[in-house]
Amino acid sequence: MKNLETILKKEISSLKKKLTKKDNPLAIQIPEGLKTKTTYILDLLKEYNPFLFVDPCYGACDLKDTQAKDLECKTLIHFGHFPMGKKHKLKTYFIPLEYTLKDQEINYIVETITNNYPNQKINLLTTAQYLKNIKNIKKKLKEKNISLETMQKTERAEKHMVLGCDCSTVVNQKTPFVFVGDGVFHAKNLFLKYNKEILVINPITKTNQTINKNELFIRQRYGVISSLKNAKSFGIIISTKKGQERLSSAKKIHDLLLRSNKKAYFFICEEIKNDSLLGIKVDCFINTACPRITYDDYKNYAKPLITINEAKIIINKEKELKIDQIN
Ligand code: SF4
Repeated sequence: MKNLETILKKEISSLKKKLTKKDNPLAIQIPEGLKTKTTYILDLLKEYNPFLFVDPCYGACDLKDTQAKDLECKTLIHFGHFPMGKKHKLKTYFIPLEYTLKDQEINYIVETITNNYPNQKINLLTTAQYLKNIKNIKKKLKEKNISLETMQKTERAEKHMVLGCDCSTVVNQKTPFVFVGDGVFHAKNLFLKYNKEILVINPITKTNQTINKNELFIRQRYGVISSLKNAKSFGIIISTKKGQERLSSAKKIHDLLLRSNKKAYFFICEEIKNDSLLGIKVDCFINTACPRITYDDYKNYAKPLITINEAKIIINKEKELKIDQIN
């Protein structure tokens, strides 16, 4: 991939044209992938006396505007993600660090799609990092008689973007899915939500794979639900992360549990860690924060982690298993 420092230098140089003395001091958030570039970023912005948050940041759902304001910072710079439609407590610039694919990388994507879906219409999805390449891919696919399904911009994502917890940019789920990106985290959400084949193309390694069938996952979730059918007490976890806080949903499931003669308690945290939950005497925890903690990281927790929908199934208020999404 193109030198990250070159991309950062260009983006920070454009950013500096917008910054004034009034933005001093700055607060900065970066994704984990930029950790080795922290001092590089801080040096480039040193005239703004920057403070850099080193806590892991996996999305714009984790905007530290309140904390930055408390530290008397005037502006927050959030690297690696597009904004989510929540109001910010102080001026925030989002720098998604988009990568421009090389011709040969675009050609690989187009060739792979053409081989798999000749003369068809497809849902083309990607992450913030590759979003700006969609226009070019679309143009080249058109020459091959392949068109792109319409997508919608939502409060949390741009058109053609998929988040690990939100597929609501998809308008027509019957159209085949193609995901372009350098991992499967985001594609996995499509596959969990729609239970259909997803062609995943990695333009950097020039490899592709088809993800299909989520039966194992469904079985695992029903296994957890059935193990909790006699559960009497539920801990409801609420995140203080701005884009992960689902207080009203947490309150609703709390009321439902009480009305079903269960015990229910609220627990607040920023990062959900097993260590913080140890010793709490409940049968399971309902995670109302990032759904991927429940689905991907459940093995790291001593007590079962379930979704709101799964809790409703346990108390017979819902029958169908639904994939947890924040949107
Ligand atoms: S809630 Fe989880 S999956 Fe959704 S954007 Fe945040 S980190 Fe990603």
